Amino acid sequence: MPKIAVIGGSGIKGIFQGETERVRVHTPYGHPSADPEIGVVGGREVVFLPRHGVGHRIPPHMINYRANIWALRELGVERVIAVSAVGSLKEDIRPGDLVVPDQFIDFTKRRTYTFYDGPRVFHISMADPFCPELRDIFVSEAKDMGWRVHDVGTYICIEGPRFSTRAESRMFRQYADIIGMTLVPEVNLARELAMCYVTLATVTDYDVWAEKPVTAEEVMETMAKNTERIMELLKRGIPRIPKERGCGCGRVLEEAEVK
Ligand SMILES: [Zn+2]
Repeated sequence: MPKIAVIGGSGIKGIFQGETERVRVHTPYGHPSADPEIGVVGGREVVFLPRHGVGHRIPPHMINYRANIWALRELGVERVIAVSAVGSLKEDIRPGDLVVPDQFIDFTKRRTYTFYDGPRVFHISMADPFCPELRDIFVSEAKDMGWRVHDVGTYICIEGPRFSTRAESRMFRQYADIIGMTLVPEVNLARELAMCYVTLATVTDYDVWAEKPVTAEEVMETMAKNTERIMELLKRGIPRIPKERGCGCGRVLEEAEVK
């Protein structure tokens, strides 16, 4: 049973080089974005799930996040490495940089946020939503690669699929550093199943506040470079993940149930 999963965002079509196996997983919530693919990265068995489906067909607000996370759990996954492309809300966070956020703000509007709809009632702590052990590993490996990496940051998640207005963007940048459409509810759901979760957020462009218009071609170029680096980072970071968890993520349910 693979204990590590990579959820791929825009630009990540696959992460394996050798042979892989696709498995069909049925969940109480319907179909995941694609059949998960199992293979080896850096000597470790890993599950890969493309968040937007094969061929990038599913927009952020239509992703079946519950089915995706449930399917990974069915496969024995304890640790989730999520890759996503984001916009920058800060001058110093440049296109091509990597951000490993430590906080998020949820501005989504119509998603299904929980597995716990009753009769058992859980209120999960979200004070520190990301796994400290995974964050440390990927921050230090990215630094060793010479990547410009921001080891803290707040990710604001918007509903999409439209981008922000200038006024929204100016408001968001008072409180957050990067902006994207897919972190929530993926992170909540993983935590509700006591999984570790880390986001590797690659910056494609400045959000509209900066009034620095970019062409689709420039965005695609940056994305291609980021994807190459992400593959390298996964290859270096995954073998460093301890076999047994040294973090508290596995115990989040213990004090979360209301009885
Ligand atoms: Zn953890």
